[in-house]
Amino acid sequence: IPVQPFDLVVFGGTGDLARRKILPALFRRYCAGQMGDAARVIGAARAEMDDTAYRDFVRGAITEFGADTACAPDQLEAFLGQIGYVTLDAQGAQGWDALKARLGDADRIRAFYFSVGPGLFADLAARIETHGLAGPDTRVVVEKPFGRDLASARSLNADLAKHFDETQIYRIDHYLGKETVQNLMAIRFGNMLFEPLWNSQYVDHIQITVAESGGVGSRGDYYDKAGAMRDMMQNHIMQLLCLTAMEPPAKYDPHAVRDEKLKVIRALGPVEPGDVVRGQYEGTDSLPGYLEEVGDDSSRTESFVALKARIGNWRWAGTPFYLRTGKRLRARASEIAVVFKDAPHSIFGADAGRHRNILTIRLQPNEGIEMGVTIKEPGPGGMRLVDVPLDMTFSEALGPEAGDIPDAYERLIMDVIRGDQTLFMRGDEVEAAWEWTDPIIEAWDAPGAEPCPYATGSSGPDDALALMHRDGRRWREIR
Ligand code: NAD
Repeated sequence: IPVQPFDLVVFGGTGDLARRKILPALFRRYCAGQMGDAARVIGAARAEMDDTAYRDFVRGAITEFGADTACAPDQLEAFLGQIGYVTLDAQGAQGWDALKARLGDADRIRAFYFSVGPGLFADLAARIETHGLAGPDTRVVVEKPFGRDLASARSLNADLAKHFDETQIYRIDHYLGKETVQNLMAIRFGNMLFEPLWNSQYVDHIQITVAESGGVGSRGDYYDKAGAMRDMMQNHIMQLLCLTAMEPPAKYDPHAVRDEKLKVIRALGPVEPGDVVRGQYEGTDSLPGYLEEVGDDSSRTESFVALKARIGNWRWAGTPFYLRTGKRLRARASEIAVVFKDAPHSIFGADAGRHRNILTIRLQPNEGIEMGVTIKEPGPGGMRLVDVPLDMTFSEALGPEAGDIPDAYERLIMDVIRGDQTLFMRGDEVEAAWEWTDPIIEAWDAPGAEPCPYATGSSGPDDALALMHRDGRRWREIR
């Protein structure tokens, strides 16, 4: 379904994120017929260039990152015809009048994408207002990181609130744009099967893993100031946790869903120092270790973190959530695993072993859902039990069209235009998440609190394995 005509200004339109994600996502929505011929995209950044040069830049970005067989060859040129560029300084006067002239006073949806560092959010917000560029149908989209602690997040929220209403602010967490993540809500609240069991009476524990096989690479400068806790845990994993643990919202709308997510964050108990492990990857013969990659021998920034979280409410009391994320792990694999309790009594005797139902929501690779069920091992060998997966890989179950799952940015940018904030973080949610994360990070400042080294290609530090072993549980294999 095409969205209404819109003007989208991409501040930072020459940056890495615009090149790799935003521009290719817009092109794919154009090819899909969702971004109509009347929509306009205006890149705005410091680099001196004209429309033609910017279109060349966009063409290059799409050729490199936007390959899509669904697009006819002439669609790229038509799409480029809807793209323009303004040289602009977020912190000065240059370019703002030109941008205003470009936008004109057409009565259309107007979105400003802040694809720049958070240090420029306040400048952009103020100038949009002083130049009279905003109206009631204006939205602003802001990228992560949204602050580096509670104080900075509050200050960013306050800066934006001076110029925009909360209903106009779209804080991106691209994990929420992932198809499987939205499916988590469909599975929980669209079926009768799971919700009655979705509580501490039936669920032993929940594991959330976001594992990457690559290292920090060229992002070393940024990453070393952030670390796994700020880069992944406070935002992406927290969002996955919220969607897994929240109460059923009364309806699928931005207020109801975000209210329930906020309640989960507020119910999180403090994390005991012994319940959190952080690590730093070591190098191999051919790959540099973390310290070498960021070029600072004394860095204590974590490239891995694992922790045990507890949610203090009726539904989850007694069911721990084990969360982990890291770089240079065995594989690039992300999943949420809901591990159910053992059957209360085994009629098959001790030889049958321990069998548990595990519902796995796979974010990558191969987005899909897998339900582990226990059955009889085929054959005449008596009543021996075996666990088999009831597997539903979306692309297989739903046919070839579903294999072409849109990128998270495609979905989220179109939601901005449609004015649907359900999959965006609200200001109070972000602040509550920092409030929970800050004490964990602050504890690491104490002398002697060093990250544990772990081998490249492993599952993380031994201490992280011990975090579960001592509870009589174990992490699922990263594969
Ligand atoms: P980048 O450094 O590649 O690009 C920054 C852009 O901002 C450039 O277009 C530059 O011209 C523009 N800019 C800088 N100062 C300006 C000024 N004074 N006036 C006008 N324009 C100015 O950065 P990026 O990697 O594209 O990241 C942009 C934002 O997105 C950051 O907040 C980043 O944390 C976030 N982000 C990036 C990624 C990614 O994969 N690159 C992923 C998630 C979030």
